[in-house]
Amino acid sequence: MNIKSFCCIIFGITVLIISLPVSGGEKRQAGNAVYVGKDMIRNYHPTPALKIDTHPIERPRFPVVDIHTHFGMDVDPGLLIKKMDELGVKRIVNLSGGWGDKLSDLIEKFYRPHPDRIVIFCNIDFSQIDDPNFTKNVETYMEEAHALGVKGVKVFKKLGLTYRDKTDKLISIDDIRLDPVWAAAGRLGMPVLIHSGDPVAFFTPVDKNNERWMQLKRHPDWGYYGKDVPNRSELLAQRNRVIARHPKTKFIGAHVGCSADDLKAVENALEKYPNLYVDIAGRVSELGRVPYSSRRFLIRFQDRILFGTDRYPGRPKQPRYKIYYRFLETDDEYFDYYDHPFPPNGDWKIYGVFLPDDVLKKVYYLNAETLLGG
Ligand SMILES: [Zn+2]
Repeated sequence: MNIKSFCCIIFGITVLIISLPVSGGEKRQAGNAVYVGKDMIRNYHPTPALKIDTHPIERPRFPVVDIHTHFGMDVDPGLLIKKMDELGVKRIVNLSGGWGDKLSDLIEKFYRPHPDRIVIFCNIDFSQIDDPNFTKNVETYMEEAHALGVKGVKVFKKLGLTYRDKTDKLISIDDIRLDPVWAAAGRLGMPVLIHSGDPVAFFTPVDKNNERWMQLKRHPDWGYYGKDVPNRSELLAQRNRVIARHPKTKFIGAHVGCSADDLKAVENALEKYPNLYVDIAGRVSELGRVPYSSRRFLIRFQDRILFGTDRYPGRPKQPRYKIYYRFLETDDEYFDYYDHPFPPNGDWKIYGVFLPDDVLKKVYYLNAETLLGG
């Protein structure tokens, strides 16, 4: 090959064909495509030719508490328990408890018959913030929820990003009108699992350099670049101010504190705030691509890391549990973090962190049991 023809080869650019319904009901596919010169291949997913040991895990080495699941009334409790048993999951927390009738219905259907297996966290109706009785009402609501068996509070990422008060002002996470919520949670011993911020790539332009281009094309509403919202560091700063103001309340930063792609920032927060914990839900894809840093991080903060998936046992698609077990337990190298036809986050593979048994036990269930109580 002469130098000229060599230079004419254009190496691959990832292309996505989006899996969204288009006009006429036709469905398009999503996946990687690459091209070299005029040749293009779709659904590109090369099989590694490596000869290495693999250790797929069917059941975890110790019982698991999944602190981060979401499901609704359509799920069959009997089937859920059966799937939990199959996957070695002893307890799950449903973070989508809502409030009012939804909350009572979920408690009745899932918690009452299985109080030792299924835990419900409630949510807060932030749209009531302008009500002159908000403080009193929210305190009563949380006391009643607690008395019914609700063990914690989940705050969705919309706080800080979309909820507005009657003056149309964005409600910041550290708005002082919300202090009674965090204080009541502390008084009642209800941990607050809070999602604030998102991956760095959700706040940067959606272009050829964005490592989550595929994900953001499928979920355009997850991208914040150019939108009228606080930036990522401001959101995390608001969250941190709340954690600092309420040292008696235990906070769980969802998704590795929403900074799995910046573990130093999570370490700084964990060092600074002894009342902060983090779950690993939905972020094994991130942790697994930096296995050395992740292993050091998980071992160092072993008392404040919680297992979570952001799924639930028996969810029809994407059996995440076994991938998470393999990541935490084995030293397997270069494997898929997904069970899709295409990478759901970014186009990379992961490596296991082979946690020692004493750390694994804490991450799998001991830390969660301490936070949730009996
Ligand atoms: Zn979630």
